[in-house]
Amino acid sequence: MYEGAIQDLIDELGRLPGVGPKSAQRIAFHLLAAESADVGRLVAALQRVQAEVRFCVTCYNVAEGEQCRICKDPRRTDDVICVVEEPKDVVAIERTREFRGRYHVLGGAISPIEGVGPDDLRVKELMTRLMDGSVTELIIATDPNLEGEATAAYLARLVGPLGLAVSRLASGLPVGGDLEYADEITLGRAFEGRRRIDA
Ligand SMILES: [Zn+2]
Repeated sequence: MYEGAIQDLIDELGRLPGVGPKSAQRIAFHLLAAESADVGRLVAALQRVQAEVRFCVTCYNVAEGEQCRICKDPRRTDDVICVVEEPKDVVAIERTREFRGRYHVLGGAISPIEGVGPDDLRVKELMTRLMDGSVTELIIATDPNLEGEATAAYLARLVGPLGLAVSRLASGLPVGGDLEYADEITLGRAFEGRRRIDA
């Protein structure tokens, strides 16, 4: 459609999740017209995220050092782990201020259609964390959709023999939805009203 650099930018933007061809074009022309200092800040932010942000060695949340700020926080309790799909879900739950335990980020959900199985997720790493017996409760906060439910059921069965309390966030969350889009109050209530899963 366009020539050279501007088309390359549109193509790259169009590869981002949730950015369609029209949005890609709009963003590209916005950047073309923007102050060079603004573009410079965007470029610097992209480079910093590549260079500095990695995954926490304990919970796989995003982190700027070895461990994320939640794993490093001594005021949080070690006996409860909340399992989520993505780092953005950690942010959503943190916003509710209902949870003071630790997290485990799976890196997705089980999806036979997309070819994602338990081995593609950080399930083994979760099991390792549960082995030493210091964790007594597991809250499964995967998304309230097909993949999230399948993942929750799988995990509940897997950790069943360990004898810890396993719960799933209560309803009230929009079914088929994404955890990150739930408002704080709904998500907070879902947390309070989490129900036990008997494996
Ligand atoms: Zn962490």
